[in-house]
Amino acid sequence: MDETRDGSSVQSAGLTADAWTRIAFIEAPFCDGCGAPFEYDMGALARCAACHGRKPAFDRARAACLYDDNSRDLILKLKHADRTDLAGLFARWIARAAADILPELDAVVPVPLHRWRLLGRRYNQAAEIARPLARDARLAFMADALVRARPTQSQGGKSGSGRRRNVAGAFVVAPAWRAKIAGRRLLLIDDVLTTGATVEGCARALKGAGAARVDVAVIARVKEAAGRAI
Ligand SMILES: [Zn+2]
Repeated sequence: MDETRDGSSVQSAGLTADAWTRIAFIEAPFCDGCGAPFEYDMGALARCAACHGRKPAFDRARAACLYDDNSRDLILKLKHADRTDLAGLFARWIARAAADILPELDAVVPVPLHRWRLLGRRYNQAAEIARPLARDARLAFMADALVRARPTQSQGGKSGSGRRRNVAGAFVVAPAWRAKIAGRRLLLIDDVLTTGATVEGCARALKGAGAARVDVAVIARVKEAAGRAI
């Protein structure tokens, strides 16, 4: 068993062994485009019907586990309970899930100012995860390369196309970062992937600034392929 999944690192993050065994880690085979798990092996680099039907704005996505009640509880602890100690654990989970693409990348960019805004939050949880991930993978950490150009409404209850409209133009590359983004291969970090609208909005902004490639990695994703109504 590798270091990221053994009991000691789980205990050090304050996770009970029971909580850990309930996490549904995503193992191969999965879609090379959006990271959705496949029921059976479709061959290396295979893509799901949704990715074939509508090519995402990002290049590839990886997710450490399925988004379900168990992973949701853990992610909410990072989000709302000041459990920033969980960020290191999530960073290791993501590094393992994205192990095949990390060697091809230059820098890590967190999704800014999360859509689930909460009064009084003191940190951006995507940045908390992205920082140790970048350090351990020896990639540049572009903490504030992306900024929100305008506030977005809550994504809750919106369809995939509604979510894409909601975030269209919501993200921009900060002027000071544009020259550093150009030609780079980037890993965009978020906590959860549902329809993919948020990371697609970010990927469009980064590619508009000249990024050569934008991959996505998240803690958890919904089981269904991106683009379907959730
Ligand atoms: Zn896919």
